[in-house]
Amino acid sequence: MSKILKTRKSKELFEKATKSILGGVASSLHKSPYDEYPIYIDGGKGSKIYDVDGNEYIDYTGAFGPMILGYCHPAVGAAVMEQIAKGSHFSAPYELLNDVSEKITKIIPCADLVTYPTTGTEANMVAFRFARAYTGVDKIIKFEGHYHGRSDEQMISFGQDSLKMIGPRNRPWKTMTSAGQREKASEDIIVIPWNDLEILKKTIKRQKHEIAAVITEPIMLNCEAVFPKEGFLKGLREITEENEILLIFDELITGFRLSLGGAQEYYQVTPDICSFGKAVAGGFQLAGVAGKREIMESGVHFGGTFNGNPIAIAACKATIRELEKPGFYENLAKLANKLTEGINEIVKKKAILLHCDGIESILQLSFGIKERMTDFRDNFKVNKIDYQKFRKGCLEKGVMLHPSRGRQYLSAAHTGEDIDETLLIIEEVFSEMFRN
Ligand code: PMP
Repeated sequence: MSKILKTRKSKELFEKATKSILGGVASSLHKSPYDEYPIYIDGGKGSKIYDVDGNEYIDYTGAFGPMILGYCHPAVGAAVMEQIAKGSHFSAPYELLNDVSEKITKIIPCADLVTYPTTGTEANMVAFRFARAYTGVDKIIKFEGHYHGRSDEQMISFGQDSLKMIGPRNRPWKTMTSAGQREKASEDIIVIPWNDLEILKKTIKRQKHEIAAVITEPIMLNCEAVFPKEGFLKGLREITEENEILLIFDELITGFRLSLGGAQEYYQVTPDICSFGKAVAGGFQLAGVAGKREIMESGVHFGGTFNGNPIAIAACKATIRELEKPGFYENLAKLANKLTEGINEIVKKKAILLHCDGIESILQLSFGIKERMTDFRDNFKVNKIDYQKFRKGCLEKGVMLHPSRGRQYLSAAHTGEDIDETLLIIEEVFSEMFRN
């Protein structure tokens, strides 16, 4: 089981990369701040990733969510190749877009109409516009710690390093995440804590006439995982409806992951608008916004050079065909449960302070806590250093985990054997980390 990992070529490639690529990587999340250099990927197939030094890994990064079918799925590949032979992009409509859209409006509960920006960031920007155009007012309630993309407005109150930096819980400060982010962009954003209907009610009572929408991730998955309290999402729906405020579900992660119809189907709560992406196109670049007809038809500009790209749409059609197969989600959840239960057994046996949780094909490993989190602020109790030690230990033995957070994704390409091997490796890594 113990492999001595050689990563010389990755190191050399990263050294070269820093000379021409910002930070040496395409996205700041592609390299963990705890690593000297990232692993360079040569390819992926099914549940496995291969690096440029010839190492093989069982992958749980899932490319941060899109790879619900695993790498190089043959049906997705074939659909994409077929479309490439016809043309990779047009500035005009094509029939396949109709077919896929008809399908999506049947699958997603809130979707009368759908539109296709390219990224989740754009999808949520457009969603904000729909809400503002429809209601005629500008303020958006956003919950602290939720992530909705990279625009100045979307990144308010996301990702701070310590509790001291985010203010009191009942009135969180509006914090900036990136250099260059305009503080003025926070003018129309109201930040409140999540999972707290009382504070939501009070805020809405105070500012009702200037609020266009409330946006939420249905499960907070851009920190360690924080799950909605029983009745929270339903309460959110009721309160927004009573006050004629729109509800936006950011389903970038949960969409097509928790179920075919996303979190709205899973939790039986239908928002007015939702954004989605990632798992919808099996690894190709597609995001969407869907919602009720009268809201979507409120005169919003929805242009974009690569909107509804035919390759991504072809991949989406092939992906949905797989997701729709009977038993798809049940089988995937069974596999994920096997891993979660296996990890929890080892954790118990070795008395490790780690909470392993999961929902459908999403898994969460949080060191330093014992139970499911319900408040964003519990995140600051999580031991990130132990996670990094653990991740590196796993990497050396052939298991690739999320570089910065304990969130992992399974795919339909994972097998029971992958899980068995992963559990053996995890047990070995725990033994090395916690020797006494
Ligand atoms: N919303 C959520 C919930 C996300 O997880 C992400 C990306 N991780 C985004 C929005 C932004 O999507 P993108 O990176 O495609 O812009």
